[in-house]
Amino acid sequence: STDIPHQNLAIIGHVDHGKSTLVGRLLYETGSVPEHVIEQHREEAEEKGKGGFEFAYVMDNLAEERERGVTIDIAHQEFSTEAYDFTIVDTPGHRDFVKNMITGASQADHAVLVVAADDGVAPQTQEHVFLARTLGIDELIVAVNKMDLVDYEEAKYKEVVEEVTQLLQQVQFDTDDASFIPVSAFEGDNVADTSENTNWYGGETLLEALNDLPEPEPPSDAPFRLPIQDVYTIDGIGTVPVGRVETGVLNIGDNVSFQPSDVSGEVKTIEMHHEEVPKADPGDNVGFNVRGIGKDDIRRGDVVGPADDPPTVAETFQAQIVVMQHPSVITAGYTPVLHAHTAQVAGTIESIDQKIDPSSGEVAEEEPDFIKSGDAAVVTIRPQKPLSIEPSSEISELGSFAIRDMGQTIAAGKVLGVIERD
Ligand code: GDP
Repeated sequence: STDIPHQNLAIIGHVDHGKSTLVGRLLYETGSVPEHVIEQHREEAEEKGKGGFEFAYVMDNLAEERERGVTIDIAHQEFSTEAYDFTIVDTPGHRDFVKNMITGASQADHAVLVVAADDGVAPQTQEHVFLARTLGIDELIVAVNKMDLVDYEEAKYKEVVEEVTQLLQQVQFDTDDASFIPVSAFEGDNVADTSENTNWYGGETLLEALNDLPEPEPPSDAPFRLPIQDVYTIDGIGTVPVGRVETGVLNIGDNVSFQPSDVSGEVKTIEMHHEEVPKADPGDNVGFNVRGIGKDDIRRGDVVGPADDPPTVAETFQAQIVVMQHPSVITAGYTPVLHAHTAQVAGTIESIDQKIDPSSGEVAEEEPDFIKSGDAAVVTIRPQKPLSIEPSSEISELGSFAIRDMGQTIAAGKVLGVIERD
């Protein structure tokens, strides 16, 4: 349906705590698996004399992907409650999950944190909560999963709730904005229906809690920005850059500027889902054609904006970062790869300006010699090639980035201020 509000939902939590299973369960309980697919599976299952086939279908597919070594791609799955259309963003289990969480085309409005009752808070639980906090997710539903494995014991549930509450307090997360639900993704307890296995629990089911989430913040009044994902040449049209509108509106006839490539022109056509449209709004994935711009004039990583309010190109920028994992220490001069929207550019940490106490947000040390895993800091970064990036306070959609090195996400960052290139 298109007349109810939309929510981007992240499912976060430690590997194997049941994120994929829970998504499968949500899709199944909300009737989001196509009927013909269920029917086909029903027939197959009946032939083989298997029961519980509908849910098994969703899970079999996930298991098959896992066996084939494929990323369990539950991202972009959709389901609806009465109040909202949900899209699952990001890809749990994916090795680039953290990077995607920061630079992902669609940022999550809210998150479900999955914590297995038999395991409790684990390293990625901590990491993801920290990130959710940095990236401004302010409402969290905590699904204490695999309750079937702990015999639906209230004491065990309370223990995990206590552990998670402490973690949330550590990162200054207002625990009034977190709700806790004992579930079994596998058995379906407290997902769509209140479970008799947890008579001691009087709260909402997971679907009720999702339905009761506050509405996402309305789109900002930031100017038009669209990071370029790819550039195609299409017969009869010409050069067609494609990407997702992050903020503002793109109209036919607008004069737009591509930065840092620094070319501009008038928008002739906009296409969405293979149809021509007069304009594109935030969230729309579009291809468009701009008068006089050829395939070699622009590239992935460019950001498009109005010609009279073009995307900012940084000479240097100051950012608050959180170091998530680094084998040793980070000192001035370190040059990892910056991933911001669709751009990937080497960037040098020119100076470490302040170390921040993550629990209070206060400055812990001016100009420290180094920072290490777990530290938060304000740093000044010089991109080694032109990079379009915006202060998070002005255009948050284009104001966060990931720092990657040796195939790993080292840190997550938010842009505080930009010194523009001349
Ligand atoms: P992910 O890595 O967080 O996506 O975890 P998965 O969804 O792949 O689940 C990891 C394992 O835990 C799988 O073998 C699941 O079948 C199992 N699992 C997930 N949820 C439950 C649950 O509620 N109860 C039980 N007993 N097992 C579960």
